[in-house]
Amino acid sequence: MRLLDLLLPPRCGGCRRTGAWLCDTCRARIRRLQEPLCRRCGVEVESGRRECGCRSRMPSLARLRSAVAYEGPAEAAIHRFKYEGWRRLARPLAQLLAERLVVEGMAARWVVAVPLHRDRLRRRGFNQSDLLAGELRELLGLGAPPGELVRTRSTPPQVGNDRRTRFENVRNAFAWHGPPLRGEAILLVDDVATTGATLDACAAALRAAESGPVTGVSVARVNV
Ligand SMILES: [Zn+2]
Ligand SMILES: [Zn+2]
Repeated sequence: MRLLDLLLPPRCGGCRRTGAWLCDTCRARIRRLQEPLCRRCGVEVESGRRECGCRSRMPSLARLRSAVAYEGPAEAAIHRFKYEGWRRLARPLAQLLAERLVVEGMAARWVVAVPLHRDRLRRRGFNQSDLLAGELRELLGLGAPPGELVRTRSTPPQVGNDRRTRFENVRNAFAWHGPPLRGEAILLVDDVATTGATLDACAAALRAAESGPVTGVSVARVNV
């Protein structure tokens, strides 16, 4: 934690009021995803449906789970966290995710973050998913893996792309640098998930390194 961050009074990432990094009002207004969820990719589905048709396009992830809808105070907070450098929001955002994962009863050995390419990391100064992964490890009592997932090539931003382009964009863009993962179950963390394309491409790299099942988790979900 940088000294400057510690000196700043907490200010809500949702509404900018001072007092807490995510105030009670915003916390209450954030819309949690409601059951029934696709049991595979975690989007809200109509009652009576168990899956949404995602099986063929997400071959490497075992499951994907997101905590809240990407709208309202959650969207504002994630935007400030990611693009305006409000790093202290990592904790309350990770808490939203942890609450969801406790409901799901998810077991894993390691928590891994979706990596940024080194050029983007240099520009932004931090990887938001890395900060979330660190908080999640603390909240859930899980460890960091013995190695590093890396983005081997720079990929254009996914915003505005259709589903097929999103998957093509990130195919083979990730690699595991480290020892084999010995069949261990992994939680793979990102801030926002849309189609699951990036998470699935990361999961492919982890599976290639002999991991066990990889569950993608994101704080927020864009429903497409
Ligand atoms: Zn607020
Ligand atoms: Zn689905």
